Amino acid sequence: MKILVVNAGSSSLKYQLFDMENESVIAKGAVERIGIPGSVLKAKGNGQEKVYEQDMPDHKVAIQLVLHALHDEGIGVIKSMNEIGAVGHRVVASGEYFKKPTLVDDEVIKTLEEKTFELGPLHNPAAAAGLHACMDVMPGTPMVLVFDSSFHQTMPEKAYMFGIKYEDYKAYGVRKYGAHGTSHKFVSQEAAKYMGRDPKSLKIVTCHLGNGSSISAVDGGVCVDTSMGFTPLDGVLMGTRSGCIDASAVEFLARKKGFDAARMVTYLNKECGVLGISGVSSDFRDLIAGAEQGNARCKLALDMFAYQTKKFVGSYAAAMGGLDCIVFTAGIGENTPTVREGVCEGLEFLGVKLDKAANNGKNTGAIREISAKDSKVKVLVIPTNEELVIARETLALI
Ligand code: AMP
Repeated sequence: MKILVVNAGSSSLKYQLFDMENESVIAKGAVERIGIPGSVLKAKGNGQEKVYEQDMPDHKVAIQLVLHALHDEGIGVIKSMNEIGAVGHRVVASGEYFKKPTLVDDEVIKTLEEKTFELGPLHNPAAAAGLHACMDVMPGTPMVLVFDSSFHQTMPEKAYMFGIKYEDYKAYGVRKYGAHGTSHKFVSQEAAKYMGRDPKSLKIVTCHLGNGSSISAVDGGVCVDTSMGFTPLDGVLMGTRSGCIDASAVEFLARKKGFDAARMVTYLNKECGVLGISGVSSDFRDLIAGAEQGNARCKLALDMFAYQTKKFVGSYAAAMGGLDCIVFTAGIGENTPTVREGVCEGLEFLGVKLDKAANNGKNTGAIREISAKDSKVKVLVIPTNEELVIARETLALI
């Protein structure tokens, strides 16, 4: 069966078409600037790429063009839309309304739109727009929602609660939900496979370090804690997000800068993190170049990122009562040896011993073991594949 995976952002839409017989990607692409002048679709299929530059005022037009590309001359990989057995949609925020991947019906759409938009105001309306667009052009094809936070639903109450009034948690659902769940799930399962071990027997800390970063504790194959919170703003500092900060400092800063609540949230999400610290860039390649040229603030941003990540690894080892494996994944986790070294440095007392040569080795795109042979804790670099997880979950459900 062929499964289409759609990841819709506010002005973008990424897709991959999988042949689930062998889990191969037979077509992929991305639309950018939906609703903005200069919309473009870059589509790949049959080993070729085609660029479609045309006006795409909304997600429906974008999806129509994607479906056209799937059977267009040259890059086309299917003859008819009927060949697509189902569509899996990535959704960021689920609140407590969706605990697992969900087959779409009218009730599901109602809940998605009425209950979850305020929990994921940047992402969920885009996912719903992508969903409606697919339903319009592929009526009768099963649609499945796969939530970023599903994998974190196994967290115990003591891990997901904030220290606020219990009545307010109950009334408003304010608690930790986490994000990047499909990635944490994928890489923890891959780690167990690589180690030839039953996931039930392993205590793993997964570090998804990219423009957004989160760290999870995976004990016995299930998530028991994660660093992102009510929204993806919590946890370590990131490309442009502050990470965790004393709530009183937020109120103090808002007063000093004359910001209202909404402006303050934008500030913490878009203007802080390593960008705010360095004043140079949110991209780690620029920070590393800056630090090498002696820029102290670039170095500070890198040091803070590794230090904060290390503290999560240590605290999750304590939470699980042990540690068998650390996994690094996503753009930074897969590509930045200095960050991995900074995270592992000082964790020797937990049994972590890095093989520096292996850590500095080339990114092959495959799983790489970067711990020393005599390290008690395995340290692995595992390329993430969120789209494949979404395709698998979709197939499993239908
Ligand atoms: P992601 O959000 O997973 O796509 O990760 C994006 C981030 O990964 C970028 O902002 C970069 O900071 C980082 N990144 C990607 N490729 C590299 C690389 N080759 N070297 C260092 N950092 C990289």
